[in-house]
Amino acid sequence: MLKGYIDEVFVSLQGEGIFMGTPMVFARFGGCNVGCLYCDTPRARDRTSQFIIDTGTPKAVANPVTDSALFVELKQPLEKYKYLAVTGGEPLEQPAFLHLLLERLQDVHCKVLLESSGFYPDELGEVIEYLDVVSVDLKTPSFTGKPFNADLHWRFLDKALEKAAYCKIIVMNNTTQDEIKEAAQFIAGTAPDIPLVLQPSFDETRPPSNQQILYLMETAAALSDYIEDVRVIPQLHRYMGIK
Ligand code: SF4
Repeated sequence: MLKGYIDEVFVSLQGEGIFMGTPMVFARFGGCNVGCLYCDTPRARDRTSQFIIDTGTPKAVANPVTDSALFVELKQPLEKYKYLAVTGGEPLEQPAFLHLLLERLQDVHCKVLLESSGFYPDELGEVIEYLDVVSVDLKTPSFTGKPFNADLHWRFLDKALEKAAYCKIIVMNNTTQDEIKEAAQFIAGTAPDIPLVLQPSFDETRPPSNQQILYLMETAAALSDYIEDVRVIPQLHRYMGIK
């Protein structure tokens, strides 16, 4: 038995990526050391002393939690919704705990989507056998403040492609065409047939503007010369005002 840090557990519609609109149970892991300049889940960067489980009647649970206790909480909602989204934070910063949890969940026969920063290839290798889909963030320099890490992302994507995978680039107002092209050329050179999602950033008060959506449409059209499946998908849950 192991203990891990969780930020929250809840049920909602998947609001991002190619499975947008699918009802899922979310296990948001607590803690992330990637240090992006922009982060839409800043609370989940830290490991906290407790977290909320809201799959019916909300309740607070102490951190760190055991994999067996978390399994008990996830089992019932997963028998109903049959899809687990493991998100963060960065779940792969707790690979042994995640491994044990997913091993236990084999009995529930649910699908598992892992959402990751794409920076932990070795840790992905520890859990890939239990995953159905991997959502791989490609972090641009304006997002991280550092050069695009093609080597690390390549090793991660190579491992993710043992299962189904898609890539996601979060596009902010200061993200340049050159950055998007650099990341897209990386996909073209590694896995040109996997979906690439351009996701406009969305702060608490301002959804992406029509101008930003139009810009992304034109960008997607240009990228489609060398990537088969490029989509512009904003965050559904933000529009709906749900988690
Ligand atoms: S990897 Fe995700 S959780 Fe971690 S800092 Fe970056 S955006 Fe935030």
